Amino acid sequence: MARYIFVTGGVVSSLGKGLSSASLAYLLQSRGYKVRLRKLDPYLNVDPGTMSPFQHGEVFVTDDGAETDLDLGHYERFSGVTAKKTDNITTGKIYSDVLRKERKGEYLGKTVQVIPHITDRIKEFIKFDTSKEDFIICEIGGIVGDIESLPFVEAIRQFSNDIGKKNALFIHLTLVPYLKASDEIKTKPTQHSVKELRSIGIQPDIIICRSERPIPLEHRKKISLFCNVDIKNVIETVDVKTIYEAPISFAREKLDVQVLDYFKIKSKKSNNLNPWKKITKITLNTKKQVNIAIIGKYVELKDAYKSLDEALTHGGITNNLKVNLVRIDSEKLKVSEIRNKLKNVSGILIPGGFGKRGTEGKIEAIKHARVNKIPFLGICYGMQMAIIEFARNKLKIKKATSSEFDKGGVHIIGLMNEWEKSGKKVKGTDKNLGGTMRLGSYDAILKDKSKIRDIYKSRLIKERHRHRYEVDISYKEKFEKNGLVFSGLSPDNKLPEIIELKNHPWFIGVQFHPEFKSRPLSPHPLFSSFIKAAKNHK
Ligand code: GLN
Repeated sequence: MARYIFVTGGVVSSLGKGLSSASLAYLLQSRGYKVRLRKLDPYLNVDPGTMSPFQHGEVFVTDDGAETDLDLGHYERFSGVTAKKTDNITTGKIYSDVLRKERKGEYLGKTVQVIPHITDRIKEFIKFDTSKEDFIICEIGGIVGDIESLPFVEAIRQFSNDIGKKNALFIHLTLVPYLKASDEIKTKPTQHSVKELRSIGIQPDIIICRSERPIPLEHRKKISLFCNVDIKNVIETVDVKTIYEAPISFAREKLDVQVLDYFKIKSKKSNNLNPWKKITKITLNTKKQVNIAIIGKYVELKDAYKSLDEALTHGGITNNLKVNLVRIDSEKLKVSEIRNKLKNVSGILIPGGFGKRGTEGKIEAIKHARVNKIPFLGICYGMQMAIIEFARNKLKIKKATSSEFDKGGVHIIGLMNEWEKSGKKVKGTDKNLGGTMRLGSYDAILKDKSKIRDIYKSRLIKERHRHRYEVDISYKEKFEKNGLVFSGLSPDNKLPEIIELKNHPWFIGVQFHPEFKSRPLSPHPLFSSFIKAAKNHK
């Protein structure tokens, strides 16, 4: 039977619950166990797909087509386990399930209540499809004490009783601040947060204390005493220089040892930190650098392109380079400034995006990359913009555009009215914005002797999608005659998946999001190749 590890947060959010959970997953895996990670999000959106990246950071997409919290990206990158739709659940999803059942009369006349109906649904979800795992690590979003997280915290309390306390472990992550003025480390916020957790029936078994500086033994003792947790289980996590150090730092603190000890499991083997040590060393020590411009709408918020930033860093690791990201706000990018702003960059990347704002700046930047032979990678919207740029400036279709943001003009990019995947409609033009996109993993066939084929070293690839609009395949011949090749197509040859320029050192556009599949221990070949091209660019 699977053992369940619940991770809650206290004091403030953004303490790195996701990274801690992901690191623990790696450590347990490297000791020979099968681990799955799950995220329970207390907000009322059914999924984060409709949320602005400004609000919630990146929307991470799974192979099976779910739009999920960005923490699932951390989980995949650290554990290597491909996340599923059922690994992220929100209050909105739970309530919509329960309300749908209520409307069908499935509660047989009962009063439908938070306890037991909502909590039962949460518990069903936690347990769903876990019979083959050794450990399920379940992270609860937000912090303890939030009104919204209460049903989740109540559900995990009940769950631990249901399966027996020896099969469930509670980890609480809190902040132990350092006060400069008095030169002191403070344990009180942690004590209060644990008190809050205990008031709703949960006694943490392990406390992870996030701190700017090492926590002296006497403070750990204090936390142990006041929070009723064994001193061995008061674990510190001091800020690391790179996130790749996190598994190393948790191993040093013996987090995995304590977890196994709690469950009375004898470790199968020792953990292997070598891969993380290797990439930490490269990340911290490489002197050589390369500047890559990311031109997008959400550049001000760091988490908005989380997987992309990570994938570029991974590309740097393969090439033994530090990748400096030059973030340029496409809405503020004036055409007259482009040359100057892109003067010191060796690669230009246009990420995914939605809507009209900022498009003209992006198109001009693509022209700059094409004409000046600067390595260019266009992702999803970035590929669509590259198509528009080429159509306008090379094919002389001056009104070339996308129906997404221009109802007039020539729609080289447009909506497909209906999309069929294994008999199911997965894409439509209805007004309901949630789940109407081409989402998740789709196959693409790569053209012989193309650059992309050389990069992937495979004819068939599977990549994740998240978009409504497609490049109109009927223009293929016209583009190809002028030097822009459609080097990757959907297996039915109807959808352009990849474009590349012939007379250019490295100019590639992809309709999918390769960044979701890049992992620090196995960087994505497209990013490794892009960074290599940038390195070779003078
Ligand atoms: N807005 C575009 C579409 O829906 C691109 C989406 C994206 O870049 N993820 O097709």
